[in-house]
Amino acid sequence: MSAAPVLVWFRNDLRIDDHRALAAAARQGPVVGIFLHCPGQWRDHGHGANRLDFLRRGVSALADDLGGLNIPLLQRDIGDFAAAPDALSDIAATLGARQLHFNHDYPLDEAGRDRAVIRTLEARGVEVTGHHDGVAFAPGELLTGQGEPYKVFTPFSRAWHRHLDAERLALSPRPRVQAPLTIAGEPLPPLPAMPDEPVVGSRWPAGRRAAEERLSRFLRYRGRHYKTQRDFPAVAGTSELSPYLALGMLSHRQCLQAVLAENHGQLAEGDAGLAAWVNELVWREFYRHIVAAFPAVCRYRAFQPHTEALAWRDDEPAFQAWCEGRTGYPIVDAAMRQLVTHGWMHNRLRMITAMFLSKHLLIDWRRGEAFFMRHLVDGDFCANNGGWQWAASTGTDAAPYFRIFNPTTQSKRFDPDGQFIADLVPELSKVAPKQRHDPSEATRRTQGYPAPIVDHKAARQRALDAFSALQR
Ligand code: FAD
Repeated sequence: MSAAPVLVWFRNDLRIDDHRALAAAARQGPVVGIFLHCPGQWRDHGHGANRLDFLRRGVSALADDLGGLNIPLLQRDIGDFAAAPDALSDIAATLGARQLHFNHDYPLDEAGRDRAVIRTLEARGVEVTGHHDGVAFAPGELLTGQGEPYKVFTPFSRAWHRHLDAERLALSPRPRVQAPLTIAGEPLPPLPAMPDEPVVGSRWPAGRRAAEERLSRFLRYRGRHYKTQRDFPAVAGTSELSPYLALGMLSHRQCLQAVLAENHGQLAEGDAGLAAWVNELVWREFYRHIVAAFPAVCRYRAFQPHTEALAWRDDEPAFQAWCEGRTGYPIVDAAMRQLVTHGWMHNRLRMITAMFLSKHLLIDWRRGEAFFMRHLVDGDFCANNGGWQWAASTGTDAAPYFRIFNPTTQSKRFDPDGQFIADLVPELSKVAPKQRHDPSEATRRTQGYPAPIVDHKAARQRALDAFSALQR
């Protein structure tokens, strides 16, 4: 090989299209890809078998895609992030590489890992370039009039739309097929031991092809109905792209470009369904900015410090009932069973179950956050932490803590025929649809379905009292 290879370190960006780091590297010379498996670190971060399984299948699909471009993918099991600087500098030294590119990750440990990599490699003569690929605006680029990071979504979103330009939305080209190198790709290291078995399998085929297909199907059949259907868990009304976006098998720019093509060049206006969907992608970016600007949230801290004093209840049986879908609130139980059996949960249900744990049961939201992370195929620190803190009123929600969903009302509104409940809670599938939201005592007894573990009114009052006792 004549020219020195340029290294691209893949992490949560498992694709070859519209990849800022890969495109930049390909402009400089022949590319070699690297993926560092960090099972110890992922375990510490609470990632479960579903996410790990999806990741491994995604890395495998990436290796195939890169192979088609004659780009080898080197794979190493390094245990945890601390070993990344030495592993990368060893690879660079062995291959004689002088340049390394990666796309930024924003949570605290990941950012610390990347700073350590930059320090070590640059001290050894390797130039390292980080790209802000997963967001339209790098953290710190969008600030309030006072020069502060946004703490509330709506003004953030307005600024996001106001400052967005064609360059930020431009897709990076896929690298051309390069001349074959003498370096061979490396196989996946053996699967580390996991506490659970993956359950996701065929519902989530990994890789960019599956992601792109899902995106175009969504835009063709569901996008225009998104605003009216997105809240109904029995309806396939959302994109189900979250695992692909979380692991970067698809970029947010690919999504936005696809919307522009469908929506006469508009994102915030035009078709109401498509505009509502874009709004969710902006939420995704908002939580990345929050994590970067307020790294304490990565250290198990509340975004609103005064809520740290909240007297969370220690109630193991109630927590277990929530985890296992036995709370006696059918919509909550159906949702929790969806999470455990399918490794994914509908957004409306994530809000309902998170609020139920943190408000009705007054159990620390961090326990719920960890349980979600253990089961979700789309587990994403920024979105999960942001969603949990929002639901628990410790986070960025602009509405005050007395936003407490009534699960039965939510159930009647968003699962009007009780179809979702019937599908996930077989004990209630034979019960008349209207009764499934809150079955009578007799029905519960005959169908073997538990009584509610808390009374809604009393639990709501208990949460209100606990929050109102907090000093700002
Ligand atoms: P769509 O409705 O089609 O939305 C498109 C994309 O926008 C999603 O794929 C996702 O990438 C992004 N998105 C949508 N809603 C949100 C949101 N509220 N916050 C941030 N991004 C959003 N999302 C994750 O990707 N990973 C998580 O670990 C995660 N945990 C959550 C925990 C809680 C308590 C809550 C309330 C929300 C959480 N979300 C998480 C956000 C949201 O529930 C999921 O992104 C969504 O349900 C995925 O379904 P979809 O792909 O069909 O979404």
